[in-house]
Amino acid sequence: MIVVSDIWAEALSILSGRLQAISFEVWIEKLEPLCFTQNRLILLANSQSSKKTIENKYLDTIKEAVTEVNALITDVIIITENQKEKYLKEKDYIFNNELVVSNKKPVKDNGFSFSKKYTFDTFVVGKSNEIAVAAAQTVAEHPGGNFNPLFLYGGVGLGKTHLMHAIGNYIKEHSPHLKILYTTAEKFTSDFINSINQNKVNKSATAEFKEKYRCVDVLMIDDIQFWSRSTGSQEAIFHIFNDLYQNDKHIIITSDRPPKEIAQLEERLRTRFEWGLTEEIKPPDLETRIAILKRKAAGQNFFLTDDVAYFIAKNVQSNVRDMEGLLNKVIFYSSLTGSLVDSIQSAQEALRDYIQINKESIDANDIINTTARFYNVTPADIIGKRRTKEVVEPRMIAIYLIRDLLNIPLQSIGEIFGGRDHTTIINARDKIEDQLKSNSHVQNAVKDIKDMLYRR
Ligand code: ADP
Ligand code: MG
Repeated sequence: MIVVSDIWAEALSILSGRLQAISFEVWIEKLEPLCFTQNRLILLANSQSSKKTIENKYLDTIKEAVTEVNALITDVIIITENQKEKYLKEKDYIFNNELVVSNKKPVKDNGFSFSKKYTFDTFVVGKSNEIAVAAAQTVAEHPGGNFNPLFLYGGVGLGKTHLMHAIGNYIKEHSPHLKILYTTAEKFTSDFINSINQNKVNKSATAEFKEKYRCVDVLMIDDIQFWSRSTGSQEAIFHIFNDLYQNDKHIIITSDRPPKEIAQLEERLRTRFEWGLTEEIKPPDLETRIAILKRKAAGQNFFLTDDVAYFIAKNVQSNVRDMEGLLNKVIFYSSLTGSLVDSIQSAQEALRDYIQINKESIDANDIINTTARFYNVTPADIIGKRRTKEVVEPRMIAIYLIRDLLNIPLQSIGEIFGGRDHTTIINARDKIEDQLKSNSHVQNAVKDIKDMLYRR
């Protein structure tokens, strides 16, 4: 049975990690889950104006989180009190072969609620992540012991947040007296800034802020690459870190890159973050990707054939979240059309639109525009003749990416770049190729631009 309040409670725990604390508290937490009508989740807002704001600013993020919780829910509708009757009339209906029963307020415990989906049991271990998982398990079993701080890094969608939740779930179950605080770097910074602003009216606001972070047994900070440069918040975390560390409290940090590549991090924090264990989570190999898909499908009671698992795993190589997205589309497609998706051919049919977007619809313009956006210059700068430092690197990277991703003849690339000679194009490409071997700044730029391109 799919219960509306359970779905919303899980979505809330995802959203609390993705939105700034203040937006989460003001807008999202106040929504009341009402019911499902067909595959839509209906949420009740407390006023017309909050409905408008939520629709404008947060609806996409909410939809994404809800679909992550259950792939069958494909839409979210925000309503106000006067529409309640109308939707409640439609509410009882058969959903995924089960009757939906709604109306139970989400149960919130005092601490952060970790997603029940993200446990050690649901995490597939392979060569790419075995050390990280072993370390995470050790920390979960003996918080305050070895590997303090635990610093896990790796690309988007490789399971960093999942492992943090797994540690959180484990500790909550086995050592319920321990206090765990999960936050993101962004949320930490915005909490900090809020406390400074509030301090003008409430003299103890910053003290309360520090107290909140200092009185925990385990502090988790997700996505530290989004750390702010603000010296105030670096100072705050420095003191919090020292306090916790000296008292054998555990600190767990994740990032998309190792500490030494987080440019905005003060040196004294960087060295501290490296005191414990710094471990990379790499993209899983084909075999592990297939095992992950099978486990995810089983979690949704979907029978995934070897062929379809292989087809999906082949198509997404470096991001488990994207791979899961494809699986969810297959599940949704088969429930919608009532057809079995059990062969490569039927999977191809179910994923036709998505896979094409990823592989074929990127053209030279997309690459130039995305590179320009990444470097904060204009597409004209990239194609143009200026040779200032700000535009030369983006230009070379755009050339490299066009050659790498599109396989267009050198001559044509030269034409796109204002009639440049093909040797110029070769030089640019070779230079970036060379820098990719050792220069982490260029490595990150190329990686981030590719991410942006494929996530359009
Ligand atoms: P990150 O925080 O590294 O960006 P997440 O932890 O959010 O990534 O993971 C993205 C999705 O991929 C989640 O649904 C997670 O459960 C799944 N995932 C990633 N790696 C694994 C794995 N080894 N086993 C099972 N699920 C995984
Ligand atoms: Mg994450």
